[in-house]
Amino acid sequence: MNIQRTAIYPGTFDPVTFGHLDIMRRAVSLCDRLIVAVALNPKKNPLFGVQERVGFIKESVHDLQGIEVLPFDTLLTGFAELHNANIILKGLRAVSDFEYELQMGLMNRNLNDSLETVFMIPSQEYSFLSSSFVKEIAKHGGDVSKMVPPCVQEGLSKIS
Ligand code: ADP
Repeated sequence: MNIQRTAIYPGTFDPVTFGHLDIMRRAVSLCDRLIVAVALNPKKNPLFGVQERVGFIKESVHDLQGIEVLPFDTLLTGFAELHNANIILKGLRAVSDFEYELQMGLMNRNLNDSLETVFMIPSQEYSFLSSSFVKEIAKHGGDVSKMVPPCVQEGLSKIS
């Protein structure tokens, strides 16, 4: 039996970093379809609007096959069901990510037992990279060229 593997990679991506992109590049080779789900997440008070965040990702992955980038504002399990996804993909950086992600993974399993949460680790050089760091550095005029793609760098330079 050939089961179609569709993975959802959810996050705020405010903005997307080389860490997120590293995970996406690794993940496309493991599944048939990868949906990057960009959470509206107004509670986090994002610096960039959701369409801008979607645009940055699309521009950065245009050379990859089998990847879609969509905004979402619903329960993740509902979004996954809507798109016939069977995998929730999460990136793990440090141990500090683990406890929260474990709780979240178990909660999502309670909501839908047929969805598997899969954790992937990025390349070592991106293990300490976060969108919050990038925003803080850019705000103070620091160089973020080794952390984010050029379109994001340009976006950050306009508002910092
Ligand atoms: P943040 O946690 O920085 O606010 P997001 O909500 O956008 O970022 O994260 C989306 C997903 O990407 C999460 O699974 C998160 O653990 C993962 N992630 C974030 N930064 C990295 C990174 N540098 N390397 C690997 N995974 C990452």
